[in-house]
Amino acid sequence: MRPLSEKVAAIAPSATIEISNAAKRMAQEGLDVISLSIGEPDFDTPGHITDACIGALHRGETHYAPSAGIPALTSAIAEKITRENGFAAEQDEVIVTCGAKDAIYEAMEAVLNPGDEVLILDPAWVSYEPCVQLAGAVARHHALSLKTFQVDDTLLEAVGPRTKMIVVNSPSNPSGAVLDGDSLELIADICRDHDLYALSDEIYEKLVYGKEHVSLASLDGMAERTITINGFSKAYAMTGWRIGYAVAPRPILRQMEKVQQHTISHPTTFAMFGALAAIEGPQDCVEAMRREFERRRDYLVPALRGLGYATAPADGAFYAYVQVDGDDMAVARSWLRDIHVAVTPGTAFHTPGWLRLSYATSMKNLEEAVERIARV
Ligand code: PLP
Repeated sequence: MRPLSEKVAAIAPSATIEISNAAKRMAQEGLDVISLSIGEPDFDTPGHITDACIGALHRGETHYAPSAGIPALTSAIAEKITRENGFAAEQDEVIVTCGAKDAIYEAMEAVLNPGDEVLILDPAWVSYEPCVQLAGAVARHHALSLKTFQVDDTLLEAVGPRTKMIVVNSPSNPSGAVLDGDSLELIADICRDHDLYALSDEIYEKLVYGKEHVSLASLDGMAERTITINGFSKAYAMTGWRIGYAVAPRPILRQMEKVQQHTISHPTTFAMFGALAAIEGPQDCVEAMRREFERRRDYLVPALRGLGYATAPADGAFYAYVQVDGDDMAVARSWLRDIHVAVTPGTAFHTPGWLRLSYATSMKNLEEAVERIARV
């Protein structure tokens, strides 16, 4: 047989898989495993959203839709961005995708050429680098300060002649950090000075605790060079619906639309009607989930600090990022084996020596997990 794609073969398997597979196996064997490795809200999608989707199915919204998404939804997203995110967006600057992940993939395909370099700020979510590689480009990693998890002047040293894009993720998965005004200004300065595109993944924008989320595209001169990524998975507990979106300048958007037309066509039509109900309907469900995450964070983070662990700021998303002594993979394996607590090793996010603990699980599970961790 002839060799398979070198591009895909070069993509590393996720460092999270070993632990999560082992955790699933143990749970199937009947062991009482507490999983703090979850990357999705533990709530059900609010009823008015599922009802809207069911209504759309009954109305026969089961056909192909325009490739950028149903017009009512692209228009509602443009209005939401203009109203809430501090920069103006028109309907034809919006594309609805199969989750934020698909939007990130399409954006990379739309912008990058082979040999272009993309700056990724570590700790970084697992899929940015593979999306860069799938687009034939090269990922360059720059470590954030592991004290503040903010950007400083050293970022400038990471920009080279081939750098074309920088990926920004605030609030961050895995660290929970929210970039402050100085960090965002620094990133914007560098993008303007070096003519870089920015991909700003704002999927956790609604999950902030005592901090304000600021969109990178709202800074001077940034809307024209920023692809803003967002979606419904985290804010509305809609992970399985696979609806995300991107807002970008028209030339980029048109390129993304071509990728979409020739791959997925568009996201599922009736699911987009659910997303429309989410964005146009009452927002108190979002606030109720945010408050519950905050309550859990307010328990978990001080409890871990009380056990002597240094933690990242945890100002957003639903993760506590915890520093451990020694090899994080070995610590994660031993926690799973000895106390049946599954966590995600920081190696997966390019920061060995850290563990990510998700608090998208019940208070009861968190309390039990803390009791077990106290024993190690
Ligand atoms: N971006 C970040 C930082 C995430 O954590 C995730 C999901 O875990 C995604 C994007 C993908 O979200 P979606 O479910 O909308 O594809």
